[in-house]
Amino acid sequence: MSTNKDVVLGIDIGGTFTKLGIVDKNGTLYYEDSVPTDAFENPNDFVEVIYTRVEEFTSSSELTFTLKGVGVGAPNGNNYSGNIEFAPNLQWKGVVPLASILSEKFALPAELTNDANAAAIGEMIFGAAQNMTNFLMITLGTGLGSGLVVNGDLVYGHDGFAGELGHVCVVEDGRLCGCGKKGCLETYVSATGIKRTVFELLSNDTSDSVFRTLSFNDVEARMISEAAENGDPIAKKAFKLTGKMLGKSLANTVAHISPQAIFLFGGLALAGKWIFDPTKKAMEENLLEIFKGKIKILPSALLEKNIAVLGAAALIFKSLT
Ligand SMILES: [Zn+2]
Repeated sequence: MSTNKDVVLGIDIGGTFTKLGIVDKNGTLYYEDSVPTDAFENPNDFVEVIYTRVEEFTSSSELTFTLKGVGVGAPNGNNYSGNIEFAPNLQWKGVVPLASILSEKFALPAELTNDANAAAIGEMIFGAAQNMTNFLMITLGTGLGSGLVVNGDLVYGHDGFAGELGHVCVVEDGRLCGCGKKGCLETYVSATGIKRTVFELLSNDTSDSVFRTLSFNDVEARMISEAAENGDPIAKKAFKLTGKMLGKSLANTVAHISPQAIFLFGGLALAGKWIFDPTKKAMEENLLEIFKGKIKILPSALLEKNIAVLGAAALIFKSLT
C-alpha cells in the first residue's frame, strides 16, 4: 500500500507570527508550525527558514509526501502579481515578490492572496461552501476583511484588490479609520469597532456595566460577548448596534452580487446569536423585495480550525482542479 500523500504547504502571514501547515486535499493537517514574521528583516531569510523546517519535517516523517505547491494568505496580498504590496502591519515595506521567492526556493508553483480571500477559498474547498458558487466571506478580526465569490471564482477586479468591504463608508464624517478615511465599516464592525462602540455607549448611557471600571486596552471582544451573556446592558446594546451596521452594509453588497450565503468568521463571529441575530434582522429590513428571505447568514464551518492555513493551501488545490 502506498503511503505517498499529495500535499500543499499553506502559509498564513501575520504581522507578528506566520503559521505553516502541510495539508492534503481533504483538509487533514500533517504538520503545523509557526515562525515569528517580525524576526526577519529580509523576506529571503524568512523563506529560507520555512524551507528548512518543511524539509526537516518531510525527511523525518514516516509518510512520504509529494509537495504540489505553496499557497499564501497575507495582508495586502495581490493574487495577480504574487506580491505583498505596502502592508501596513508588516515590517517588509513596499512591494515584496513573495510568491516568486517561494516558487524559486521550493521549485514549485506558489500562489498568494489576501487573508480574507484565502478564508473564502478555504470555505469553498474544505468548509460549508463546497457546493456554492456565489457567496461572501466576512472575516471579523482586528479589522473587517471580505472575500467575494461570484460564479465559482474569487472576485479580484482590475488590479487584484477587489472586495474591500471593510473600507466602505457607512457613516459620513464618522470614526477615523487606520486607512486614513472616516466612517469605514471596520471602524464599527470588527473586534476594535465594537470596543469603540462600548466606550462610546459608556459615555452616553448611564446603565450599569462591567466595563465602567476597565480601560480600553483591558477589554477584549470576547469579554463583550461574555458580558452580553450575563445581561450587561451596554454589551447587549453594543452588539445590537454592531449587527445593525453590518446587516445594512450586507444588504448593499447583496444588491451587487446576489449571494446564496454570507459566512462570518473570526473572533466576533464566535459571539453567536449576539452578532448573528441583529445582523440578519438589519439585513432583511434593508434588502430589496426580490432578495428577501433568500440569503443565509452562517458561521464559517472552519471557525474552530486553522482556516487561514487551510485557505492558503486551498488556493493551490483550487488551481489544481
Ligand atoms: Zn478604512
